[in-house]
Amino acid sequence: MIHLLGVDFRYPKSDFHLAFEEISVELGSAAALIGPSGCGKSTLLNLIAGILTPSSGTITVNETDLQPLSDSQRRLFRLQNIGFVFQDFALIEYLNVLDNILHPWRINSALPLSTENRERARTLADQLGLSQKLHRHPSHLSQGEQQRAAICRALAPKPSVIVADEPTGNLDPSNKQAIVDILLDYIRSERATLVLATHDHELLPAFDQIIDFAKLLPTPSTSLAS
Ligand code: ADP
Ligand code: MG
Repeated sequence: MIHLLGVDFRYPKSDFHLAFEEISVELGSAAALIGPSGCGKSTLLNLIAGILTPSSGTITVNETDLQPLSDSQRRLFRLQNIGFVFQDFALIEYLNVLDNILHPWRINSALPLSTENRERARTLADQLGLSQKLHRHPSHLSQGEQQRAAICRALAPKPSVIVADEPTGNLDPSNKQAIVDILLDYIRSERATLVLATHDHELLPAFDQIIDFAKLLPTPSTSLAS
């Protein structure tokens, strides 16, 4: 379960202000995050992942309250619990596909890189149609292949929460649906939770919940202030 309560967030030296009363996403469910460009979808995903922290409010992810954690505790929590599918894929160009997928284990001493994990990385790549591309570098992959490699990397350590930032943005319709199906299959089989920002309204029926930025209620303090 993901629960955000009375969250207030501003970037330093920016007019942007994100403040809302409450967002909840049930354990094991899929939520789509919609709203116009610039409304704060990526910001919200970064708050859930503990990459950004709010100035007030509470963010609870699977019973862990992120606020009291130090930066290093939050980073560890993120590595162990969150699979982040970045909008621009964020693949590492000097690593091939297999090494990109194995990267979360290499940078996290709490996630040992075992034979079983290597096997899992290959199985995932196979399921996502990348078994022939394991030794290619990202710049030698199509957009769809890069996106699937980024998804393999996010799913490999079996995170309990998947956060995906417009993962279908640059893809053709059949690839879009395939990407969403992969993420939904994962959360259904692992009882994980998905929060996915998107502009693709045709994808929305597959989700359990739609979080529309236009309908978020402001926090009581912001509504008093304005
Ligand atoms: P969305 O993902 O819905 O397009 P974002 O969360 O990326 O929206 O951005 C929300 C607002 O915050 C935008 O006005 C954007 O320009 C601003 N913003 C995003 N990142 C930063 C940053 N690091 N510093 C200052 N302002 C930012
Ligand atoms: Mg965004």
